[in-house]
Amino acid sequence: MTEQSIAAMIDSHIHLDNINDPHQLSLLAALMQEQGINGAIIPAVEPSLWSRQLQVANQFGYAFSLGIHPWYVKQHWQQQISELATQLAEESRTRSRLVAIGECGLDGNYRDNFDWQLHSFSAQLALAKQYNLPVIIHAVKAHEQVLKLVEQAELCRGGVIHGFYGSPELATRYIRLGFKLGIGAILLNENAKKLQQVIQDVPLDCLVIETDIAQVNAVEQTTKTLNDPHFGLILPLLIKKIANLQKKSAVLVSEHVFCNTVQLFDL
Ligand SMILES: [Zn+2]
Repeated sequence: MTEQSIAAMIDSHIHLDNINDPHQLSLLAALMQEQGINGAIIPAVEPSLWSRQLQVANQFGYAFSLGIHPWYVKQHWQQQISELATQLAEESRTRSRLVAIGECGLDGNYRDNFDWQLHSFSAQLALAKQYNLPVIIHAVKAHEQVLKLVEQAELCRGGVIHGFYGSPELATRYIRLGFKLGIGAILLNENAKKLQQVIQDVPLDCLVIETDIAQVNAVEQTTKTLNDPHFGLILPLLIKKIANLQKKSAVLVSEHVFCNTVQLFDL
């Protein structure tokens, strides 16, 4: 299987704005182009980081989402939500590349702010419905609550469970609610048997792929060893892994995953 046989790719979740060095950032964006990743969505983290995030998105012509990550939900969550509502109104007025709400959700490992997380997540789901946008969800050790709130929200456009890691049963429950599974680096870990099982079983139209945290050392590694198939950006590796598990060609998988992302985010 050659690199050229994979169709264009879109990174559905990459925190490019966490790379501060402008040179490294440009290098990574160029490398993405070179490897066939010609679209990306930069997800939001919290209000104070939005301006940097939007600046990076505009610089490279990438799409972005707006929201408040569960780790950053504070006691003044209502204030954060009102900032989000204001920013959403502004973005929809200027018809920017805003394509989703998020990342938002619940993280059960963060007990200290969990009550505020619940309020903030519900409010963000309501905004997604109001603005007719899909949601990018961070769900860790809180799937029952996430499923319940999503069901109650009656979203128009569903969304993605970013960095999905769970059982085939859990995958099916999200898919029934109109959600895609965001598949990232965990799939490349040979010990992630549960996730491999999920990928073998789910329909291809439920999957999107993601880098999540953009690493500068990945850029350095890749530029040094561009021809080494064991290094490089993870998206082409994810496509090949999914293709192996589904016993389909990498071309077919990449085409499906590309279309899924375009459809979900209306790119
Ligand atoms: Zn993220």
